[in-house]
Amino acid sequence: MDEDLATSTDAGFAGLGLRPELLRALADLGYEEPTPIQREAITPLIAGHDLVGQAATGTGKTAAFALPLLQSLEAGGSDSPTALVLVPTRELAEQVSQAVHRYGRDLNVRVLPVYGGQPISRQLHVLRRGVDVVVGTPGRILDHIERETLQLDAVRTVVLDEADEMLDMGFAEDIEAILAETPTERQTVLFSATMPPRIDAIARRHLREPLRIRMGRDTSAADALPTVRQSTYLVARAHKTAALGRILDVEMPTAAIVFCRTREEVDEVTESLNGRGYRAEALHGGLSQDQRDRVMGRLRGGSTELLVATDVAARGLDVEQLTHVINYNVPSAPEAYVHRIGRVGRAGRTGAAITLAEPREQRMLKAIERLTGQRIALEKLPTVTDLRARRLDLVRTTVQDAMSADDLDRFRSVLASLTDDADLETVALAGLKLLHEANGGDVDEQEIPAIAPMREREDRGRDSRGPGSDRFDDRRPGRGRSGSGPVTRVFVGLGRRAGLRPQDLVGAIAGEAGLPARDVGAIQITDRFSLVEVPEADAERVIRALSHSTIRGRRPTVRRDRPNH
Ligand code: AMP
Repeated sequence: MDEDLATSTDAGFAGLGLRPELLRALADLGYEEPTPIQREAITPLIAGHDLVGQAATGTGKTAAFALPLLQSLEAGGSDSPTALVLVPTRELAEQVSQAVHRYGRDLNVRVLPVYGGQPISRQLHVLRRGVDVVVGTPGRILDHIERETLQLDAVRTVVLDEADEMLDMGFAEDIEAILAETPTERQTVLFSATMPPRIDAIARRHLREPLRIRMGRDTSAADALPTVRQSTYLVARAHKTAALGRILDVEMPTAAIVFCRTREEVDEVTESLNGRGYRAEALHGGLSQDQRDRVMGRLRGGSTELLVATDVAARGLDVEQLTHVINYNVPSAPEAYVHRIGRVGRAGRTGAAITLAEPREQRMLKAIERLTGQRIALEKLPTVTDLRARRLDLVRTTVQDAMSADDLDRFRSVLASLTDDADLETVALAGLKLLHEANGGDVDEQEIPAIAPMREREDRGRDSRGPGSDRFDDRRPGRGRSGSGPVTRVFVGLGRRAGLRPQDLVGAIAGEAGLPARDVGAIQITDRFSLVEVPEADAERVIRALSHSTIRGRRPTVRRDRPNH
């Protein structure tokens, strides 16, 4: 692998037939090679095939459909969009737009995110100037079609991203209506984390002989799995570097590899770890063979304890002393996870595999567990108190080890002179303090907020993003549920269009069902309906009471929210 590492980005993505402008953008983003889904999907999509891909967030699915869209983009072509991407949420609309923009940087692509809650006038203005790619939520796209402010005649490709989510949010009819407005000879691409029968029905009705791709099917990779301790921490993106440092402080690996997705991430993480006092070295495809050899030498010799690397750079690398593999992100495919953790626990050595997962990557973790048949334990991040205790413990064990050394005698005269004026205990305490300070001293850090894991029922069918996503964008601050028992999500057939506000729901639930307001959990209000979390034990009572009450002058449908309604 070594000779062609420096050019592996081109080899990897160029092998898929992507145009030079895209290859340049990918290289600059530090993408070294395509993820499995990209490797499978990009070439057929460029050739114009329809495609159904079962892939969750974290697999690189966005680039898998965005790059082919950009491949056929004609700069200055039609003023009405040639590609339409439908997504369930505003958050995703923005993310996908940004991705298209980044990849299409050298193509001057004009991309517009379109979602409810944003002033329509701004969208109208941009649409009038002309756009190539529209990324939007079905409700708002349909609004534009009805106002005749969005022309879909020139659309060549439609992407349904996170299709299961869109159905869950009640967008099935809107999607049908939108597809009916696009040319029948279009290319249609559907991505979904789960494949319930309703998704299959859409694929059968609207896609032509689609290629089907499913991630995580290669179970052969799991056979070679060593026995290592596997654990994961849920962390919001903003806290990841801090969390990594803290985990390392507690784990104290002899030698570890931290895997990152891109070169940029490698550099960023290396810098942050060095700032924390670790001896960390970056290893990525941008380094020359000579530089890489030197880095490896330092790791083997023990003068480096942490290697921060991309998959490509770490391929084929075998380090005897490796005690920990750390995934700074959930790997883009379950197989990659297995390959990575195969680096520790070799030849009977013990090791640990630790994964940092953002809330929305939890589904990928489940896919990995399914592939390996092994559980990945969800751990709580060390708190500031844990860190303090750990640092003091380190002082204790370091001194304990030193006490068994046989070269202590030469310090006797120093000790004797110190104890002329002070007692032995004070001298010892001062020594411990100095050692503690040399180890980094007192912990001066903020607590990292804990994140609740995805609940079981969400995992079964619906939420690929988990808590903290914009599904619960109307979550009321400071009003968490008082208990932590199981909750039920209740569907109420009234939404923003009926003028519904969170306080109307809380008021109705408190007033009609007698449930204390603090027991009402997260509330999500969409244009047409709302979802509200209540304790499972009170769900029936709330549903009965709300079904018989009037909210904002209407009597809405109220029922348990089903994973696939
Ligand atoms: P997605 O599954 O599309 O949400 O992508 C997950 C993350 O992986 C995003 O942060 C992308 O920027 C990143 N990503 C996608 N493809 C690659 C690749 N080939 N190499 C490195 N990072 C990637």
